Amino acid sequence: MTESAHAPSADAQPPAWSPHELEAGGWRITNLFDAYFRLDGGAMWGVVPKNLWKRMTPPAEDNTIHLAARPYLAEKDGMKVVIEGGMGDRWSEKLAGIYHLDRPEATSLSGTLGALGHSLESIDHVVCSHCHFDHIGALVVERGDELVPLFPNARVHFPAAELIAARTPEHPRRASYRADDIEPLVAAGLVDLHEEDTELLPGLTLHQVGGHSEGMTVALFGEGMDGPKAAFWGDLIPTTHHIQPPYIMAYDVDVPRSFEMRTKWLARAADEGMVTLSYHDPLRPFTRLVRDGRRYAAVDVPELS
Ligand SMILES: [Zn+2]
Repeated sequence: MTESAHAPSADAQPPAWSPHELEAGGWRITNLFDAYFRLDGGAMWGVVPKNLWKRMTPPAEDNTIHLAARPYLAEKDGMKVVIEGGMGDRWSEKLAGIYHLDRPEATSLSGTLGALGHSLESIDHVVCSHCHFDHIGALVVERGDELVPLFPNARVHFPAAELIAARTPEHPRRASYRADDIEPLVAAGLVDLHEEDTELLPGLTLHQVGGHSEGMTVALFGEGMDGPKAAFWGDLIPTTHHIQPPYIMAYDVDVPRSFEMRTKWLARAADEGMVTLSYHDPLRPFTRLVRDGRRYAAVDVPELS
């Protein structure tokens, strides 16, 4: 299948949420959903020429491309982990318009969990790849005049470097961090910080890769174990089209680091046959990375299609 066969059309309504399950590292992983939104195609593709990226992610008239904010649920032995924290609802009409925020059939992080029979109170952990607003915005909700955690009983795992970046007033990506996404969780005593490489739970390991942001972290299911493996990329690889090492977003704070880590992790995912979980891809929540000559291709996972 060619890359353009999976290109979201510029104007068509994106598909409604449809949950699929797979197993990796003893975890059952299900795609949730929070929102569709759109960002400038040039910013999402960095130095990649538009003539190349427009075939994979066709832009609308204003040059924006379709993206998803798609968290996942991982379950094992009664433990429930939400991977990544969505966009949420705390957006002014103006910003919701700028980002083209869109929720078909009123789906959201809490709505999709509820549809699968999970209460907000039953979530034990939330793992976040980094703290940009599009990755954690749904974890805090307004209740009256207060901002409160969406998951009252969940430990929220942030990379330590992200808290530092978010609290640095002169940070070059200051616009990507919002104190209201972070401080209510810290004040509630729910945040745990991790650095470098960590085995968070059996069969779930975190690796800090940096590049896109200082603390950018990937989550692996089944590392070092027999059987299927899965990788949640966060913004190391934002969509199933950003799978060649130089396809680096203009947002990244450390491009050489991004290139080094993307080269390493794309090769590892292909060599180990990992299923990859793409947070921002509007069409494909699960794919497998394979080599295609000197390039990579993202192929469908047959048991899920
Ligand atoms: Zn992002």
